[in-house]
Amino acid sequence: MTSPAQLSAMLKSEGQRLGMDLVGIAPAVTPTGISRLQSWIERGFAGEMHYIPRRATAYEHPEHVLPGVRSVVMVAVNYKGAGERGSAGVREQGREDHGDSVADLPHPQTPALPGRIASYAQSRSDYHDVLKPRLQQLADVLHAAAPSCRTRCVVDTAPLLERDFARLAGLGWFGKNTMLISKRLGSFVFLAALLTDADLEPDAPHATSHCGTCTRCLEVCPTDAFPEPGVLDARKCISYLTIELKGPIPLDLRTGVGEWLFGCDLCQDVCPWNRKSPPATDATFAPLPELASLDALEILRASDADLRTRFRESPLARPGPAGLKRNAAVVAGNLGDDAAIPVLCETLNHVDPVVRGASAWALGCLGGTAAQEALNTRRQFEDNPDVIVELESAASRFIS
Ligand code: SF4
Ligand code: SF4
Repeated sequence: MTSPAQLSAMLKSEGQRLGMDLVGIAPAVTPTGISRLQSWIERGFAGEMHYIPRRATAYEHPEHVLPGVRSVVMVAVNYKGAGERGSAGVREQGREDHGDSVADLPHPQTPALPGRIASYAQSRSDYHDVLKPRLQQLADVLHAAAPSCRTRCVVDTAPLLERDFARLAGLGWFGKNTMLISKRLGSFVFLAALLTDADLEPDAPHATSHCGTCTRCLEVCPTDAFPEPGVLDARKCISYLTIELKGPIPLDLRTGVGEWLFGCDLCQDVCPWNRKSPPATDATFAPLPELASLDALEILRASDADLRTRFRESPLARPGPAGLKRNAAVVAGNLGDDAAIPVLCETLNHVDPVVRGASAWALGCLGGTAAQEALNTRRQFEDNPDVIVELESAASRFIS
């Protein structure tokens, strides 16, 4: 019979062979962060991510994810970009064919109205789809050595405090920006877990913090989303606003969204630990330079069906076509380029009121006779009360 120490060593070496940069093992316990999660929910910081409070009890112990669980194998995969991303230094091993992906589709060399995309969404496929089969391969190795064991792979797909278990497994600490930071890899890492009822040898938890007196992440946030170090008010975070939120982006936060079309990396970009860390070595996860930004005008012009097809295997599918268009309209308003006016006059008539409202706001930012006429025309037959408020607020900016 294979001992817990032997199984653990085997999983670590196999995990690395499968392209996982860090592999650590935590005991299946109530995570120390559970009280932090509860207080975070009580303070309303989860916003409209109702699935979090709904599953609050399930987060209390990984037993709710896999009955009888004894060990949690945590893996981290580096997705940090480099100056010359996608270069010959990028390792192709482990790359999987997912057919046409967003990266295979034509992109303009220089977007007319560049909207920024968070790094994690710049790889050629959705990391959920790529990591899951690799974790399953790791589980197969465990099953071969311990045939009676049970396993479950988790890639953001179950109520598990992945960052807490990553810290418990010794992979890193929580930065003041709430991200898990590895001394070696920084914070641009995907986390995933393999739960098992097999006994494994746990690693020592990462007990220290290495932020020191640094406060760069707290200071750089354009929407002031950190009420205190290590606590994120998701309702103010651009990642939440552009990806999770279904309705309109609150008026007082739209300017702070700036050029971000999908997500935001600012509080990670400024982190000194990310400056020192190496770029991703696996081509599957490395960000593609051509996806660092997308043309907001192109997003606004595209049909909803085209956007669905284009992003069907990308994280950019999550906000849906209307969410992407809402974001593109806000970016267009913030960029202040009149070239967006004709297309915004068209999206002012979009079937989704959230797109109409954001388009009205953007036209109010851009100004000009054409924008004013479009707002007035739409106002004559608009029947959605929220959009009427947006139209009138935008139109009022012309009166001065
Ligand atoms: Fe602020 Fe951007 Fe970090 Fe969100 S991701 S907390 S908006 S800096
Ligand atoms: Fe910690 Fe500074 Fe990085 Fe923020 S920017 S997570 S304070 S080291």
